[in-house]
Amino acid sequence: MSAMTTVEQTVYIPAGMGASVSVSEGTLIRLTDLYGQQPIDFWAFCQEDPWEFLSPEHTRPSIMKLYPGVGDSAFTNFRRPIVTLVEDNSPGQHDMQFAACDRARYIELGASLPHANCQDNLHLELQKLNLDVRGVIQPWNLFTNFFINPDGTFSIKAPSTQPGDNCTLRVDINCYIIISACPQDMNDTCGGNPTDVQMEIGR
Ligand SMILES: [Zn+2]
Repeated sequence: MSAMTTVEQTVYIPAGMGASVSVSEGTLIRLTDLYGQQPIDFWAFCQEDPWEFLSPEHTRPSIMKLYPGVGDSAFTNFRRPIVTLVEDNSPGQHDMQFAACDRARYIELGASLPHANCQDNLHLELQKLNLDVRGVIQPWNLFTNFFINPDGTFSIKAPSTQPGDNCTLRVDINCYIIISACPQDMNDTCGGNPTDVQMEIGR
C-alpha cells in the first residue's frame, strides 16, 4: 500500500525544466522518475521565513548519515525537520553532497552555452513565487548516484532507478517546494540522457 491515498495535483516536468508548489504541513509529495536514471534536484523554503530552508549540510549531522532513508527527515538551516521520507520505491540513492549544476559547471565541462541548468531553474521558480532569496542554495539530489568511495574520492555514476521509480515525502513545515529535472548531459549524472519527471501532491 502506498503512503499517498489521494492525489490532489499532478505536475509534469519536462526534461531540464523546473517547477514549484506551495504545500502545507501534512501534505504528501510523490516524486517519480518516469523513464529511469533521472535525478530530481529538490529545495524547500519555509513560508513563514524563506531564509529558513532545507539544508543538506545541517541534515547530515542531525541524522548521522550522508542522506536520509525511509523514516529520516531533511532539516533546515535552523535544524528543524522540514520534510520526511515516508516511502521509497527506488534504490534509495538521494545524494546530499553536491551543489546544483549551474552555468559555470557547464563551462567547466566544455558545454556550449546557453545550457539549461538547475540553479537557473531554482532562481526562476523563486522569482515566480516572489521570494527574495538570493544565493547558491544546495539541493537535495533525489535519485542521484554520486558514489562515495572508501578512499574519499567519489564517482559520478548513472542512477540505478528504473522507469516509474518514486519516493514520497511528508511535509513537516508549511513551505514552498521547488524541483528541477536535472539537464546534465555532459556526464553520467542522468545516464547521459535527461528525461521528464512527475510531482504529485496529495494526502
Ligand atoms: Zn542539474
